[in-house]
Amino acid sequence: MANPKQRASDQIESTSSVVSLFGDPRADDYAEDLLSIYYDGAIGINKKGEIIFINKTASKITGWLQLDAKGKPLENVFQFCNDVLEQSYLKIVNKIIDSGNTFGPIKKHLIRTKKNVDILVDFSISPLDENTVILMFHKLSAINSDKQRPLLYQFSHDTLTRTPNRNTLQQSITHLHNDYKYRDKTYSVLLLDIDRFKLINDQYGHKTGDQLLQVIAERLQFIIRDKDNLGRWGGEEFLCMLPDADLDTACKIAQRLCNSLAEDPFKLDNETIPVTLSIGVSNFPEDGNSPEELFRVADATLHQAKQNGRNRIHSSQQSTGKIFSVGTLLENALKEDRVTPVYQPIFDIFTGQQVAEEALARIQEKDGSLIEAHSFIDAAIELQMVHRIDYQIINKMLSRCSENFAYSKNDLPHFVNVSADLLRHPQLVQELLQYAKLKCEECGHSECESKPIVIEITEQELLGDMAEVKNLLAPFIEFGIPLAIDDFGSGYSSLTYLADLPISYLKFDGSLIKRVAYEDRARKIINGIQKMAESLDLITIAEHIEDQKTLDVLRALGVSWGQGYFSAKPAE
Ligand code: GH3
Ligand code: MG
Ligand code: MG
Repeated sequence: MANPKQRASDQIESTSSVVSLFGDPRADDYAEDLLSIYYDGAIGINKKGEIIFINKTASKITGWLQLDAKGKPLENVFQFCNDVLEQSYLKIVNKIIDSGNTFGPIKKHLIRTKKNVDILVDFSISPLDENTVILMFHKLSAINSDKQRPLLYQFSHDTLTRTPNRNTLQQSITHLHNDYKYRDKTYSVLLLDIDRFKLINDQYGHKTGDQLLQVIAERLQFIIRDKDNLGRWGGEEFLCMLPDADLDTACKIAQRLCNSLAEDPFKLDNETIPVTLSIGVSNFPEDGNSPEELFRVADATLHQAKQNGRNRIHSSQQSTGKIFSVGTLLENALKEDRVTPVYQPIFDIFTGQQVAEEALARIQEKDGSLIEAHSFIDAAIELQMVHRIDYQIINKMLSRCSENFAYSKNDLPHFVNVSADLLRHPQLVQELLQYAKLKCEECGHSECESKPIVIEITEQELLGDMAEVKNLLAPFIEFGIPLAIDDFGSGYSSLTYLADLPISYLKFDGSLIKRVAYEDRARKIINGIQKMAESLDLITIAEHIEDQKTLDVLRALGVSWGQGYFSAKPAE
């Protein structure tokens, strides 16, 4: 498991890796493949809003052939059944190009095909280069006639905002809860309440209030991730379910929703109407063991957000001293030298032979039992203690590395996580490198040769200025320590890292590996990344291999190395 784990599967899904592929001549062959992995249909649009390419799936869904569609304005082919979007999409296209940000994903949106059939799609629009954006979408279901639409919606959807109603949301969350409770998985709930809505009604009238609710719902839908589910909870309250989001991720999404309203007032009937939101956050299993308990906590935390002044979010983490109690536990463990590595073997997937190992952080309790990283890493990030954990783990790993070499001449690579937090403490980095030099001299490793230590960096943590990233990593690279990129394929993957840094190993995101034997799409993604890694001469590593079936699939895909509970649990 990698250090500060803000698993990107919990973040807003982006098409950035697909988009970067278009700029990379080595990867042209895979672009079409990867497009079909992420979404079914793809349409390229220029600044004037004209179609410059349309893939086969998009043709099939819309009924427009490539030849006919090319050069046409987008709205001819991808007809929005929504006036607001239809009028403003050109603005949206230009905003995407200017800001470089993805628009969407927008869920359950109605479009009209060439044959005038209304269908529901999920779509998003991402920047491709300074002149082009790419619209990606997939079809959800067909609505064949106007008569059918109310039938489809009347029981499950709120008629005003066209979002799922309270009953549907309750059912969805109960379903998710029953699915997740035995699988050690997490999800969060956001309860959103518009601030001072009564005053808005009073000032602008009830009709404008209604319109506002519609456009607010639309804007919120743009912000949430594809897998999230937002609906009307009642009155001016919305509820959003966030599968796989821990409390930290949920708070980030909630903050984004809050900002999206506060930063950009709505314009209706020639009026500019500022609107803000308060949001209560709750998480399973942190805050309760049933959907009802989570709704109660979200209600209580929402109340707290209102009391604290509105236009803000609140979670149980802020209400209780939980992170502080974990902080005390960690502080004591660091002081008493009880932050300790366990080592997980890494195997060659083809031969089954051990080829490396990874050091994973644990806290050793006074009775000898071990606390796993996921129980303390979030608090460590919050309290800025991660560099101290890294320091102790790397130190101990270096000692083990030289002991292994002294006793058995075992010179297998030792993988260890290095956080951005550590890299930003140059004094600690220098101390660690001094110690590494000493240990290398003891083992007779020469200055210039590559060292049997590999540092794993999580790209998401280092997102930002590439020059700064290179600078921070330089001391390790100069010492001859190879780099592994961790959690690749997790949604933030930027191919720039592979192009700009001397990466030797690529570790797939664990959540993708868990799905690879059971989901065709996950398999295709791994396949695409594997091919690309091969072309760059990278060794690929799959974490979280938990059964034979997964191992077999990974072997068939050509993944080089693997680790996970199926092969071997970490040991001291
Ligand atoms: P606070 O931020 O403190 O919650 O202030 P508030 O005004 O939002 O307070 P409260 O929740 O008590 O009032 C909600 C208001 O939202 C009252 C009601 O008139 C209005 N409202 C609820 N449903 C609708 C609707 O469907 N359309 C319109 N226009 N207004 C609605
Ligand atoms: Mg209310
Ligand atoms: Mg309100």
